[in-house]
Amino acid sequence: MKKVGLRIDVDTWRGTRDGVPRLLEILAAHEIRATFFFTLGPDHMGWHLWRLIKPRFLLKMLRSHATSLYGWDLLLTSTIWGRRKIGQGLALQIQTAAKEHEVGLHAWDHFAWQTWAGMWNQNQLTKQIRLGTDALAAIIKQKVTCSAVAGWRSNERILQAKEAFNFRYNSDCRGTGPFRPLFSNGNFGTVQIPVTQPTFDEVIGQRTTRKDYNYFIFNNIKADRGIPVYTIHAEVEGIMLSDMFQELLLMAAAEGIRFCPLQDLLPEDITTLPISRVVRGLIPGREGWVGCQSL
Ligand SMILES: [Zn+2]
Repeated sequence: MKKVGLRIDVDTWRGTRDGVPRLLEILAAHEIRATFFFTLGPDHMGWHLWRLIKPRFLLKMLRSHATSLYGWDLLLTSTIWGRRKIGQGLALQIQTAAKEHEVGLHAWDHFAWQTWAGMWNQNQLTKQIRLGTDALAAIIKQKVTCSAVAGWRSNERILQAKEAFNFRYNSDCRGTGPFRPLFSNGNFGTVQIPVTQPTFDEVIGQRTTRKDYNYFIFNNIKADRGIPVYTIHAEVEGIMLSDMFQELLLMAAAEGIRFCPLQDLLPEDITTLPISRVVRGLIPGREGWVGCQSL
């Protein structure tokens, strides 16, 4: 049996309202537990999508059918409704997820983090993490034990800002398997569980097609020599591609692949984990820089 961490990123109001309940049904039917990372604050992702409508990204949107994936209603409504707080309005969906699954912080303001995290000072970073952590803790009525920055926008400075929150682990970067991040001052940061597999939008239209996507990702997971972690989005696999995602779960079960929450990938003694740094890198098919586990 091969264990694969299943991470579900929830970026928007619509993903929380519609995608999360659908994914909860699917996971229950397949007896799978996963880790949900929630966005708690205002939903500015519509602005994000508008901003991305520029030549290079337009091509990507056409390739990946992002307009139909996200829906034009998201493009329009989330810009109008940006002042609503996702956590306040949709606490029930988050609480329901927390009953069966591991739950952690994705962002307070997803759009702002993706856009500005690389430039924010320590106070601004801390404020965003504090807002998100406090909101999530109040909703699930327990301490927040894990987090995953929006858009994998992490570097040593950002990891340093997260240290104060005493998360058990973070999933802030792309890489090959869990590791202890080494800072330039010689200290170790909180354990990282990097994402090892590409997301749907990174590979579709470039390395595979929608029809062949499940085979592509399934073979990629089987060939993963590290400790595989796969990310889906409530906005995508929880809404438009939920049938495709269910087929992937069936394929995986038939071949002895078992999806699990990220915490299940950690050894009892974390000092046995390898040591790496987190450096800026680029991922094919993804816009902008991301934090990467240095090899
Ligand atoms: Zn996200």
